Amino acid sequence: MAGRAKAKGKGVRVTVRGRVQAVGFREAAVRRAGELGVLGWVRNEDDGTVVVQAEGPDAAVDALVEWLGEGPRGAAVEEVEVEKGKVEGHEQFAIRGVSAGAFVIQEHQATAHHWDLRLEVDGVMRSWAVPKGPSMDPAQKRLAVQVADHEKSHNDFEGGTGEGGVIVWDRGTYEQGGRVPWPEAIERGHAVFVLHGEKLEGGFALQRTRPGEKPQWLLIKRKDDAARPGSDLVAESPGSVVSGKTLAEVIAAD
Ligand code: MN
Repeated sequence: MAGRAKAKGKGVRVTVRGRVQAVGFREAAVRRAGELGVLGWVRNEDDGTVVVQAEGPDAAVDALVEWLGEGPRGAAVEEVEVEKGKVEGHEQFAIRGVSAGAFVIQEHQATAHHWDLRLEVDGVMRSWAVPKGPSMDPAQKRLAVQVADHEKSHNDFEGGTGEGGVIVWDRGTYEQGGRVPWPEAIERGHAVFVLHGEKLEGGFALQRTRPGEKPQWLLIKRKDDAARPGSDLVAESPGSVVSGKTLAEVIAAD
């Protein structure tokens, strides 16, 4: 009789030390993981190491770990530290910690007052209108209504619009995260990302709660070092990151 069916395999967290950054290590790891059928991610750390989450069949994970001990041509691996990790359920092997493009939050007074969160995905700005604005408090789940994509050229717009106005409330770059490749993560209704703005920082999640013509999502700050429980950032920091003006000042000057 055949033995009990194997579980999904295993997950390991690997730290690679030595001359391992700026030598094409992450790109080579993505290729090798793809050949082996290993899922997870690779990222450069600030301390000069490369860290890998690897999960899949035991033999494939072991083969990737062996490869990490060599690395690509140009690398000089000094030490590989392997810790038993979890199988996180990744559906890709991605490079983490790299910018996926621009993000912007435009505070917008139209018929209703809201903050438009826009994330650059495949050259366009995917957009959500957040009536109460973003929060750095993980306990605050903010309604975010998905709205039409915008052109990147609109990201810098600030000024009166006749019926109201717009300010650039925050902007910067973002990293895509989660277990599912983007933009599929958005289509499937769960997108995890890291913002590097002037006001907003750290991990966030968008979780779709109601599909349809105007899909409803929740924007939630993830619990991390950047989180600020109890804070109310839109009240504490109302000014434009471009002009310093508040939305009321921009509208009054129009
Ligand atoms: Mn808007």
